[in-house]
Amino acid sequence: MRLQLSPEDIAFRDAARAWLLDNKPATRAPEDGSESRAFALDWLAKLYDGGWGGLAWPKDYGGQGLPPARLLLWYEEYVRARAPSTLDCSFVALNHAGPTLIACGTEAQKATHLPRILKGQSIWCQGFSEPGAGSDLASLRTTGRVEGDMLIVNGQKIWSSYADIADFQELLIRTEPGSKRHKGLSWVICDMSLPGITIRPIRNMAGATHFAEVFYDDVRIPLTQVVGGLHDGWTTAMTTLGFERRTAAMALQLDLSVQVEDLIDLARPTPGSAMAERLSDLRAEAAAIRAMTYRVALREPATPFDGSLVRLSFAELEQRIRRAAMDILGPAALVHSGRVADYLESYSETIAGGTAEIQRNIIGERILGLPREARP
Ligand SMILES: Cc1cc2nc3c(=O)[nH]c(=O)nc-3n(C[C@H](O)[C@H](O)[C@H](O)COP(=O)(O)OP(=O)(O)OC[C@H]3O[C@@H](n4cnc5c(N)ncnc54)[C@H](O)[C@@H]3O)c2cc1C
Repeated sequence: MRLQLSPEDIAFRDAARAWLLDNKPATRAPEDGSESRAFALDWLAKLYDGGWGGLAWPKDYGGQGLPPARLLLWYEEYVRARAPSTLDCSFVALNHAGPTLIACGTEAQKATHLPRILKGQSIWCQGFSEPGAGSDLASLRTTGRVEGDMLIVNGQKIWSSYADIADFQELLIRTEPGSKRHKGLSWVICDMSLPGITIRPIRNMAGATHFAEVFYDDVRIPLTQVVGGLHDGWTTAMTTLGFERRTAAMALQLDLSVQVEDLIDLARPTPGSAMAERLSDLRAEAAAIRAMTYRVALREPATPFDGSLVRLSFAELEQRIRRAAMDILGPAALVHSGRVADYLESYSETIAGGTAEIQRNIIGERILGLPREARP
């Protein structure tokens, strides 16, 4: 792929570089809880006030309306500056709830929520998975009974990242009585402060409480909060998962190259050694993901399943990079608490957003045209 920057692109890149140098926070984002919320909202507000919020979002809702190429340039500078990880409690709002509202929301929903997200005034979480519905999302059982102009929601979600500090949730529920599988679902904006919602944080093996169980007991949500049509939530949910797998992690994908270069600096391997070979493999793989990120972001029209290719490659490479960091540091890793946490949390990369096995099924069946495996 040949990339040529115009004089305007170079001016944009230089302005981004200078702004990040002057404004990026000096500390790493707190792991979880109200401190992580305050940190993320402050950073979003600063980005917005500095003119760097919502670069690719429509101007009507507070965005800049810039093309994807500019977003890539921004993210290149962002990771180069080692600005705060984009995988924090603002991830859902910025990377898939907001884009889903832009694609499927009503004017009122967009006008209410998009500017608030960009200005750092709201945190979102995702309520798709249930104890019996993860990979097989269509078997979800949380219900929303239509009563007048309200939905009365009952059931349980699990693994909802940052639910304990979120203002809103993208909630997928069964609204058509007696419906099965992908039919009769609705994607609803759930205000997390509504009566009847109980949130129970879950601690992960790195010690953080990123995600939570959420229980709904006769929660009353106005029908105006349905996004994309009552009983047609599967279409909206696929739009969300499309963003989640295809473009949500662009900055994180580009950051892999930065991480590998940092590891090379750290290890200073002897040329020709096994470690030098391992690091050069990682450098090549990170370059491949970077190329894939550009291809996916710039390809018009988007192809529906290439998100699974990117998601899978990213997740597995990140795990290999974090493992290499542990091997290079050895016991000294124990004094780098951030690196140990990053390593432990990398295990979740091949589960969140659809497991590696599910991405492989999609690649096999939808991209390579292999026979479909048996479905329940
Ligand atoms: C860090 C993290 C954050 C998350 N955040 C959220 C969130 O914010 N909101 C949310 O709704 N969910 C979230 N999840 C949940 C995530 O989407 C699910 O964990 C994931 O979809 C897998 O579902 P499951 O855990 O029920 O596992 P299961 O679906 O029960 O899978 C168990 C195992 O069986 C395998 N398997 C299942 N079906 C098949 C098949 N057909 N072919 C081959 N293998 C199969 C899986 O690959 C897996 O190894 C998060 C998960 C993690 C780890």
